[in-house]
Amino acid sequence: MITITVANQKGGVAKTTTAITLAHGLALKGKKTLVVDLDPQGQAATILGLEQEPGVFNLLVGGRSPAEVIRASGRERLALIPGDKNTATAQIVLDAQRAPISRLAETLKPLAKEWQYLVLDTSPSIGGLQEQALWAADTVLIPTAVDYLAADGVARILETIAVLGDRHGWRGTLLGVLPTFYDDSTAESERNLGALQTMYGAQVLTPIHRATVLRECASEGKTVWEYKPTSRAAEEYARLLYKVLEVL
Ligand code: ADP
Ligand code: MG
Repeated sequence: MITITVANQKGGVAKTTTAITLAHGLALKGKKTLVVDLDPQGQAATILGLEQEPGVFNLLVGGRSPAEVIRASGRERLALIPGDKNTATAQIVLDAQRAPISRLAETLKPLAKEWQYLVLDTSPSIGGLQEQALWAADTVLIPTAVDYLAADGVARILETIAVLGDRHGWRGTLLGVLPTFYDDSTAESERNLGALQTMYGAQVLTPIHRATVLRECASEGKTVWEYKPTSRAAEEYARLLYKVLEVL
């Protein structure tokens, strides 16, 4: 099982869009893939056209097993452990219990028998649950919007994983920094992309353009592979998918 954590302390940078698109892409490529929605906003379910549920809460503090909280996505080889606002309560309980950084990873470990990929979508905060999600990762993907200056979110995730390595012996890798909301007609996008490339070099992946089709996907409860597989957005996410299949 390969665990990919999608993280950035900033909201609205396409974490959930990227997590779901990548996960469904992996499923379409024949890989059994499970998404875990660790954001109390519960948007992963919504984007897949499913109901939000306290799945993560029940798993982390409600004593349920993964099998009890996994929901079919209606797509072959793709399933979800949904989240909802109760995930925020789970976070508080874990903090109060002083749960070790490895708690989430331990909870998810039994899934390795059945699932080839685990994709963890995270919330835009720096709570203990997000650190646990990074610790659980074999590899971390950091989407970052380039339509305005938002690169500090990237720096903070990189700092966090550096600390996890130093203090907790984390042995994961950085899959890359994914520029999103790229608009090649604006000087600002060009400038911000250039700044990312200067700072992070080859770790910066090919950007995903701003695309209305991705917004439409979310409201239709479909992934881009279902809604507009011939769109540029689908092509750009396919590139990310091949990169994942190639490097992992
Ligand atoms: P996050 O999970 O980081 O908060 P989301 O994936 O929920 O971000 O994306 C925020 C909003 O932007 C959603 O409405 C989503 O449909 C939309 N969106 C995501 N990626 C793009 C893009 N490349 N172009 C246009 N809209 C996008
Ligand atoms: Mg999100």
